[in-house]
Amino acid sequence: MANDVQKLQSIISHCKEYGFIFPSSEIYDGLSAVYDYGQYGSELKKNIRDYWWKSMTQLHDHIVGIDAAIFMHPTTWKASGHVDNFSDPMIDNKDSQKRYRVDHLLEAYADALEAEGKKAEADDLLATMDRLLAASDFEGLKKLIEEKKIKCSVSGTSNWSEVRQFNLMFSTQLGSVSEEASEIYLRPETAQGIFVNFQNVQKTGRLKIPFGIAQVGKAFRNEIVARQFIFRMREFEQMEMQFFIRPGTQKEWYEYWKKERMQWHLSLGIPPEKYRFHDHVKLAHYADAACDIEYEFPMGFKEVEGIHSRTDFDLKNHQEYSRKKLTYFDTELNQHYLPYVIETSIGLDRTVLMILSEAYLEEDLSTEGKKDSRVVLRFPPKLAPVKLAILPLVKKDGLPEIAREILSACRPHFRCFYEEKDTIGKRYRRMDAIGTPFCITIDHQSREDQMVTIRYRDSMQQERIPIPQIREIVEKEIL
Ligand code: ATP
Repeated sequence: MANDVQKLQSIISHCKEYGFIFPSSEIYDGLSAVYDYGQYGSELKKNIRDYWWKSMTQLHDHIVGIDAAIFMHPTTWKASGHVDNFSDPMIDNKDSQKRYRVDHLLEAYADALEAEGKKAEADDLLATMDRLLAASDFEGLKKLIEEKKIKCSVSGTSNWSEVRQFNLMFSTQLGSVSEEASEIYLRPETAQGIFVNFQNVQKTGRLKIPFGIAQVGKAFRNEIVARQFIFRMREFEQMEMQFFIRPGTQKEWYEYWKKERMQWHLSLGIPPEKYRFHDHVKLAHYADAACDIEYEFPMGFKEVEGIHSRTDFDLKNHQEYSRKKLTYFDTELNQHYLPYVIETSIGLDRTVLMILSEAYLEEDLSTEGKKDSRVVLRFPPKLAPVKLAILPLVKKDGLPEIAREILSACRPHFRCFYEEKDTIGKRYRRMDAIGTPFCITIDHQSREDQMVTIRYRDSMQQERIPIPQIREIVEKEIL
C-alpha cells in the first residue's frame, strides 16, 4: 500500500516535470483541486476525448453528438433535482475544523477494519451506512460515527458536529449586480444539456428510438473533500451519453451498455483484472439501476465511469417544469410516450489519471557492473501525445536535412517531435518519459542506403527500416 501511495506521488511529480499537468495558477501557490494541462497533458487528454467521441458517435449507428452551453436556464436544475438533492452529508471535527464526507469517513474506517482482518464487521458497517444514507437518517449516521469512536486524522479526537447537507453546485450572477441579477449555476453535469435538447435533436435529425446523444464538456462541483490529484476536481470534464429507449426495455439496454462500455475500457489495452463493476445499493434520486466501472488506481479500486438507468425521470420533470410536451411518437407502436434513458458517464480527467497510472513504469535496466533505470509511460500508441521522434545522430553532415524531410512528410499525418541536441541515449530517455512509442535515428549510413533506425519504446528493440516505410509503421499502430 505504501508503495502505491508513493506511485501516485511519483506520477504527480512526473506530470509536473514533463509538462503534463500543473497545479492551477501555481505562481500564486495554486488553487485547491483545480489543475491545468500542459503541452503533453493537453494532447493526451485530447486523444482520449477523440477516442471516446469517435467510438461513441462515428462508429455507432444511432448516436449523435452535441455541444451545449455551460450556463443553462436555472429552472433546469430545479427540474433535474440538483437544487434539492445534489448534496453530500458532511460532518465537521470541532477541534480541527476539518470537514469530512460522512460516507468517506465511514468507508475509510471500514477499510481499516478489513486490513485488521475484521471483514465481517466492515461489511456490516457499510451495509448500515448504506441503509442510513438511503433513509437520509443524519442522526443515525452521527450515532454510528460516535459508536465506532471514529477519530479525526488531524486532531485525533471524536468531537463531531451534526451531520449536514452541502449543495455542490457553484452559482454566479447573470446580468449586472445593480439590477435584479438572476442567480444561475455552473452545470454540475453535462447530461441536462442533452435532455433539454432532446426534441431539437430528435426532430432535426429525424432520429428513431433507440438512439443516443453524446456530449463532452466541463462540469463544476464544489467538492468539499477534493484530493487525490485529478481524481476529484472542482472543475472537470465529463464524457456523457444518454441513450433514449422504449419504456420497459431498460433492463436489456442497461446490460448492453454495461458490456459495451467495459469493452471500450478493455480496448485501451488495460487488463480485465484491473476493472470491476460495483452495483449501487443506494440509488441516486433519478435511477432505477446503477453501477460504476471501477479501475484499480494506485489508491485502490475507484469509480471511473457510471452507468445509470435513469427511467423517464429527467424528461418527465423537464416536461412538467417547462410545460412543453417532450413525448416521442413511436410509429411502429403507433404510440406517444416519454422515452426511458440509459446513461453512460465517464470523467475525462479520471480517465487521464487511469491511463497515466496504467502507463507509468519505473524500470530497472541495470546490467552487471552498470546501474541504469528509466521512467517510461507505456501509453497505447493511439493515445500518446507524440507518436514519432525524429532524431538526427549529429547536427551536421547533412543528417538534419534528411531528418527534416522525414518530418515534413510525416507531420501532416501525426504528431512528430524533432530534436538534435544531446546524446541519443538522453534523447531516447526523454521520449520514454513522455511516452513516445517510436523514435527514429538518422545516421551517416542513412545517406548511403536511405534507411534509418527505428526504436520501439516498450521493448527498446531497434531495427533498420527504409525511410518510406516509417509512416506506414506508425499509422498502423495509431489508427
Ligand atoms: P463520486 O462518487 O466519485 O463523487 P459521482 O458518482 O458523483 O462520483 P457521477 O455524478 O456519476 O459521479 O459522474 C460521472 C463521472 O464523472 C464519474 O464517474 C467520474 O469519472 C466523473 N467525476 C465526477 N465528479 C468528479 C470530480 N469532482 N472530478 C473529476 N471527475 C469527476
